[in-house]
Amino acid sequence: MSNCNRIHAIDEIAKQNVPESANDSEESILNRYGEDVFNTEAMRRYLSPPTAEKLRATIDQDAPLDASIAESVAHAMKEWALARGATHFTHWFQPLTGATAEKHDAFLNINDRGEPILAFSGKNLIMGEPDASSFPSGGLRCTFEARGYTAWDPTSPAFIKRHSNGATLCIPTVFCSYTGEVLDKKTPLLRSIQALKHSIVRLMKCFKQPEEHVSITLGAEQEYFLIDKKFYFHRPDLIQTGRTLFGSPPAKHQQLDDHYFGAIKPRILAFMADVERELWKLGVPAKTRHNEVAPAQFEVAPIFEDLNLAVDHNMLVMEVLKQVASRHGFICLMHEKPFAGINGSGKHNNWAISYGGRNLLDPGNNPLHNAAFMTILAAIIRAADLHSDLLRASTACAGNDFRLGANEAPPAIISIFLGDQLDEIVKSFAGDPVSKSSKPSSLRIGVDSLPPLSQDATDRNRTSPFAFTGNKFEFRACGSSQSCAGINMVLNTIVAESIDRICDDLETFSSGEFNDGLQTLIKAIFNKHNRIIFNGDNYSPEWKKEAERRGLPNLSGTMAALKPLLRQENKDLFKKYKVLSETEVNSRYEVFLEEYHGKIRIEGGVALEIARNMILPIVAEEYGRLVRILESCRNEKVEKGCSALKKMMETFGQKLDDLYQDCEVLEKALGGVHEEILQALGSIRKTVDAIEELVPDNKWPLPKYREMLFVY
Ligand code: ADP
Ligand code: MG
Repeated sequence: MSNCNRIHAIDEIAKQNVPESANDSEESILNRYGEDVFNTEAMRRYLSPPTAEKLRATIDQDAPLDASIAESVAHAMKEWALARGATHFTHWFQPLTGATAEKHDAFLNINDRGEPILAFSGKNLIMGEPDASSFPSGGLRCTFEARGYTAWDPTSPAFIKRHSNGATLCIPTVFCSYTGEVLDKKTPLLRSIQALKHSIVRLMKCFKQPEEHVSITLGAEQEYFLIDKKFYFHRPDLIQTGRTLFGSPPAKHQQLDDHYFGAIKPRILAFMADVERELWKLGVPAKTRHNEVAPAQFEVAPIFEDLNLAVDHNMLVMEVLKQVASRHGFICLMHEKPFAGINGSGKHNNWAISYGGRNLLDPGNNPLHNAAFMTILAAIIRAADLHSDLLRASTACAGNDFRLGANEAPPAIISIFLGDQLDEIVKSFAGDPVSKSSKPSSLRIGVDSLPPLSQDATDRNRTSPFAFTGNKFEFRACGSSQSCAGINMVLNTIVAESIDRICDDLETFSSGEFNDGLQTLIKAIFNKHNRIIFNGDNYSPEWKKEAERRGLPNLSGTMAALKPLLRQENKDLFKKYKVLSETEVNSRYEVFLEEYHGKIRIEGGVALEIARNMILPIVAEEYGRLVRILESCRNEKVEKGCSALKKMMETFGQKLDDLYQDCEVLEKALGGVHEEILQALGSIRKTVDAIEELVPDNKWPLPKYREMLFVY
């Protein structure tokens, strides 16, 4: 039996049995769906009908919250939560760290007579006052005015989070500073939703449509890795940075494409089933599960929902994945690139706009629907072209730098994929020659109907960062660990601006000139902004050249990608739509930059520790061992094998020198700028990975790629 922890871990995993999956009957799925959510059903049971109605109006119709109902809603929520085993409540918010935050308070209180009571007031529900001083603010708040406020977001229902020994009532909230500046991701998202809804109503009015409820919809596909916990705890790099800083690629990884959509292994399936059960209880409509491209990589996707709720739900999905993984002896890695040399993880952001329940991004089959569709399409194309830098900025983070442009994820150049059929329609509007097969050149907006788009014609291209997929736009450049709030805040704002710009013109047209006017307008937009449309292979080197020729920005790396936040035009846009003030944009830039530098510095520090404390000693020991063997061979006058031993010894001697030197360089780089750290990290990794291939297997301390990715 080896005394190597790594090998011991493999033995333990091999002995493990797959936990039995509970068998859900159809009925219990339906009964338990949303049972931990303060939903319509809970409202009906715990609130008086008029109060429930007022609350529903706020949730469904964007009616302002009637403050007088806060007390009764709080009371109802408390009764409901207590009945479901909760002992505590918390405001659940999304600071700029990108994670969620919570500070629990017990319902327990002591009354005037010194007796224990359980209390939860309207004020407790509506507002919280957590100490904000330790959350990133990018200079918005000094420690002496540490107060921050959380405020109830009634449009996202309260829910109950369970742990092994109790439960907590969670109230989704926004988070701002004492002086009112936003410190979170939810507030600007909500503001951008309002802005876009407003623009859509304005546009539909131009089309003489009755005012209807607008909903921006999101379906967020989430990729992740699972590795056995027993490996994880022997990888200080995974524990501290979320990714492996060392690891030589295994002979077999994803070359055979045999993992993607493959049969799901029983242990994984047991985990997935448990995740779904938890998500369904929380009212998260998890729908799809499958193996992804890389070994040990998987995906979960929900049915799309109202954007604000879907963003909250995606945050919950990430939390639940991590918690349930732990229960199943796994660790769920959400990092964008946990393993070098194989695919990393992203998040696909499926976005659409519904008007009175009808999806406006569905071209439809009558001239009116077609006209609205083409107008919004033009607005999106214009928005993406004018603000592609903002779309790019929303995907910027240290982890995503390893994916974007690395032939596994869309490049750092933002472009739009329309699919051949829609592309031809757009071209025909713009007055380009059209292929013989279709005759859309005669299409007149508001009069003719578009040919039906065949669904599979629209989604063949998986290399595009922003693809039209039949009835929605799929933004594919987000990192797996990122909140969807950022990208959607940008999307909503830039599209709102484009729609408003179009409305400015439409509103001046008389009914008689409307169709022709609109046609001219759309044509002008297509002509001016068609450089953003690209239907080819986004991974190809030719596209980089072509994009440069078209003048499209190629913002490689987080530093370059964040810069556009500071562009005055972009700041003015956020300000105009009251999504973020200039100060708030500046603070975000600071926070994201600081986070980036912080992460790289931590990676440098961790790599140095591992190299010095775990790898160098092994190389030295192995070198010494070879020196001694060689010496005794010489003493015994043994000749066979001596030249091989000598070469091995020399190799280890060289590696010892190299690694020692790499450590010195990395240590020095840690006192310098991030470029130096990144370079030193690259160099030390090369050395360590080469050493991994030389050191006797039972002496290597770090679980290997072939183990983490295949042994489970
Ligand atoms: P894939 O992208 O893997 O081919 P699908 O296109 O079927 O998968 O769906 C991906 C996601 O898009 C799902 O989460 C789905 O709910 C979501 N989606 C479908 N319709 C809409 C819509 N109108 N608005 C937002 N998301 C949508
Ligand atoms: Mg997709």
